[in-house]
Formats: sequence, structure tokens, C-alpha cells
Amino acid sequence: MRLEDCRADFPLTRDLIYLDSAATSLTPKPVIQAMVGYDLRYRANVGRGVHRLTTIATHRYRDARDSIRSFIGGEGGAIAITRNTTEAIGMVAAGLPWKQGDRVVTTLLEHHSNLLPWLRLRKRGVEVDIVRPDAEGSLEIADLEAAVRDGTRLVAITHASNVLGTVIPVDEIAAICHDHGARLLVDGAQSAPHLPVDVSRMGCDYFCFSGHKMLGPTGTGALWMREPDIEPLLVGGGSIANVTADDYTLAPDEGRYEAGTPPVAGTIGFARAAAYLREIGMETVHRHDERLSARLIEGLSEVEGVRVLGAEVEGERIGVVSFTVDGLHPHEVAQILDEAAAVLVRSGHHCSQPLMEHLGLPEGTVRASTHIYNTEEEIDTMIATVEEIARRVA
Ligand code: PLP
Repeated sequence: MRLEDCRADFPLTRDLIYLDSAATSLTPKPVIQAMVGYDLRYRANVGRGVHRLTTIATHRYRDARDSIRSFIGGEGGAIAITRNTTEAIGMVAAGLPWKQGDRVVTTLLEHHSNLLPWLRLRKRGVEVDIVRPDAEGSLEIADLEAAVRDGTRLVAITHASNVLGTVIPVDEIAAICHDHGARLLVDGAQSAPHLPVDVSRMGCDYFCFSGHKMLGPTGTGALWMREPDIEPLLVGGGSIANVTADDYTLAPDEGRYEAGTPPVAGTIGFARAAAYLREIGMETVHRHDERLSARLIEGLSEVEGVRVLGAEVEGERIGVVSFTVDGLHPHEVAQILDEAAAVLVRSGHHCSQPLMEHLGLPEGTVRASTHIYNTEEEIDTMIATVEEIARRVA
């Protein structure tokens, strides 16, 4: 499918300029149809029973899970369906066998979902080292390397910043981790929807991502594991191989992480979303986002009173651009953009309060984030509206 042809699949784009895809993306019609198809034609619980509907539903669910795994090149590992990235990261934090003196290395670039689980472990005696980016938000790999000493059990880092749009070279970090016997968790919430991801080449041990940010339904995400070696968060129906009155053995595969009825329709929709992105091609998606964000950065940088964050940081980017307008709170800017031009952006700290403090912006930023359905004309409308807003307060 050609990227230019996909817009008709997203009815909301007719009346609105949706630039909040980093929070959650829009969903195309084929994804909705796939989910409705389950409910109308073969709805049944999965993994239990032999009747005709459960057999179809089980096959479709497992196929969907497999295709989500292959979307990130994860055939060599296990994948568990979760509610979102937050749950996937939380499962690793809860499931590794921590002991006093273990270390976790993370960074100040993280979303709260990849920071709070480690801060909570700190209260249980785990040492947590937080590597700081510079004043522009650029992370020095040498600083990270210095922090990953022997005794580091886990490095937990984002693949792409949800505030600055910058991409972190996680494959370089994987090499550093493995030199020191540390495992690597990559928060792929912002990369899986926008970049070609291949976990087999990346060298991470855990990759966490959200279906709802990549054209899939809300309430879906996944945890990919090189080895399914963490303790499950929940146990119960569906997660076992055998149960006696006194004991149980867990399922040998990823089923052990999916106790209870999984989000069947959601997973089928998630897999359809992955297939939709694949039809367009993730290289094409990435180039489109880069083109739009470059246009946005250039346009906004020329507006007097507007400061674009992280514009100087080198390297690859996703379609996320944060900025401030002198004299206005980010929420005011977002409100005016909506009222004046139906441009929907996010404002505030973007669940990255420590990063905002570090950048000297406790009130946060305005953040525009793109996906395949956005156009250059929409970006130009956004720039022109910000120009007008900035002129009014000058
Ligand atoms: N990590 C990053 C980098 C994010 O941008 C987000 C959400 O914006 C998350 C984690 C949490 O994702 P979810 O809300 O789907 O759990």
C-alpha cells in the first residue's frame, strides 16, 4: 500500500489535524474491521475447549501474537501480550530475581513508565544509577558506558525519546551491556510505531512496546524476551502446564505470562495494525516522520519567541517535536491550536517530569507528534497558527 493512499482509512483526519500520535495513534478501518470480525464471526475464549469457535479463535489469537513478534524481528524469542508498555516494563521489574547490591542503570530521558519501576526497586535495596543528558537533551554514550560497571544487572533505556524525538543507538548500548554481563531492556513505545525494529540485531534482552501507539487498539502492548526467564506477575488459568491440589508447573512458553483471558479482539487488531504498517513499509514510515519533523523544526525555529527543544541533537529522529512559546503556558498554546485551527497537540510534562526539570522547563512543553496520516499541509497549518499565537503575545 502507498502511504499517500492511507489517509482515507482514518476518518478523524477529515476534520482534525491530529498531531498527538506519541500519546496514542489513530486506528485505521482495517484494524477496526479485524476486531469486529472476531466479535461477529468467531468470538470464543482461547486455549480451552475443542468446539469450532474456540478452535478458530485460538488459531487466530496465536497467529496474531506470532505476527506481532515477527514485526519486531523477534522469532528467536518469546512474546507476551500485555496491556501496554508500562505493564511490559513492570513485568520485568517484578519478575527478575533482585538481590541487595544489584544495580540498574537508566537515564533521565525516560518516560515515567521506565523510571518509576526502578525507583521503586531502589526502596528494596537495588542501586539505581540515572545517567543525565546534557542541557540540550543529548545523551553521551561514554557516560552510559561509565555507569555500566560489573554488578549492573539491567540497563533500561528508551529507544526514542517521547519528548525530544531523538533516537538512542541501542545496539551500541547492547554491546556495552553484554561486555559487563548486564541485561538490556529497551522501551520501544516510541520506536516500534515509527522505525524499522529488529530485536535480533539490536541485541536487547527485553523489548517493550504498545499496540495503541502503532495504529492498534488501546489496551494492547507486548513484552518480547530473548529468554522467557522472568517470574510471571500473575499466575492462574491459561498460564500452566499442570496443576495438582498442592502445586503447579507453568507453561513452558510465553503462555506462562498470559494468565487469564487475554485481549483476544485487541491482539487480533494489534496484529492487523502491524500488518498495515508492514504493507506501507517501516522505512517509508520513518522517512515520512523525519520529513515532517524536519519541516516542523525548521518552521518553528524561525518563529520569534518559539524555542524548539533538542533541535541541535544529532542523529536519527522520529516524528516528535517539543517547543515552548514565550509568555504562554504550554496548555494555553495547545488550547488555542485546537480552538483556532483544530490542531491537536499534547502539552505538559509528557510523563517525563525529571527531564523537564533538567531542561529548566517545569511547566513542560507543547509537543506535536506525527504518523502516516499527517501531511506537509497540516504541518504548515500548525506552523502558521503557532506564528499567529506568538505574534499575539509579543
Ligand atoms: N515509554 C515511552 C517512551 C512512552 O512514550 C510511553 C507513552 O507515551 C510509555 C513508555 C508508556 O506507554 P503506555 O502508556 O502505552 O504504557
